[in-house]
Amino acid sequence: MNIDEFKLEVNKLGINVTSLEFDKLEKYYDLLVEWNEKINLTAITLKKDVYLKHFYDSLTINKIIDLSEIDTLCDLGTGAGFPGIVLKIFFPQLKLTLVDALNKRIKFLEIVVNELSLDNVALVHARAEEYGKENRECFDVVTARALSSFPILLEYGIPLLKINGHLIAMRGLNDSDEGINALNVLNSKINKIIEFKLPYENSQRTLIDVVKLDKTSMKYPRKFVEIKKNNL
Ligand code: SAH
Repeated sequence: MNIDEFKLEVNKLGINVTSLEFDKLEKYYDLLVEWNEKINLTAITLKKDVYLKHFYDSLTINKIIDLSEIDTLCDLGTGAGFPGIVLKIFFPQLKLTLVDALNKRIKFLEIVVNELSLDNVALVHARAEEYGKENRECFDVVTARALSSFPILLEYGIPLLKINGHLIAMRGLNDSDEGINALNVLNSKINKIIEFKLPYENSQRTLIDVVKLDKTSMKYPRKFVEIKKNNL
């Protein structure tokens, strides 16, 4: 999608793109392409593809949750910053925490945060399940795009949420059925599911909004070997 198409489609999501946000996206794109030559950040580098599959795709979250009044958000397995950095550009009031297991991606995000002058962003080099052991009930919203199977993602994300907080899983195909047991064990439930196709290239997208109903047992998240051996 070209820039005009991007602005039009983002408007349809209910989000306005002013020059302030657009300048930050342009800078982000330049940094992504520059650093991608040194460290592996993304397979998608053509400008029209980055605007569609990374920038626009990150903003589709607005179909399922209004982030304009949200205070704390944690993006798990953020990679090169999707959706976390894009959300911070458009919802600057967010107190954002970005978590990734690969330190080189966290180093890249430090550069992005500095160059784009983003405030209130914490960058955490950790595995989600280890971070979740220590940081319980801290966040209003947890997001994760293209991370793990749905039950594993629930085990990573739900412990971090405050009660009544929302986990927004951004996925391709709808695999929400796999999470029935995990949702029960983790005292949470699916609030809403939205399925749609990405414009222009028509690939399938699913947004799953999970709400935390009650405290999570201290047993979770377990160590990765246990999670892997025995999915909830
Ligand atoms: N959310 C980004 C990246 C998806 S790829 C996007 O949609 O573009 C998955 C990312 O999660 C990788 O950067 C990987 O390093 C990270 N990751 C995988 N397992 C993780 C874990 N258990 N804890 C934290 N990060 C993890």
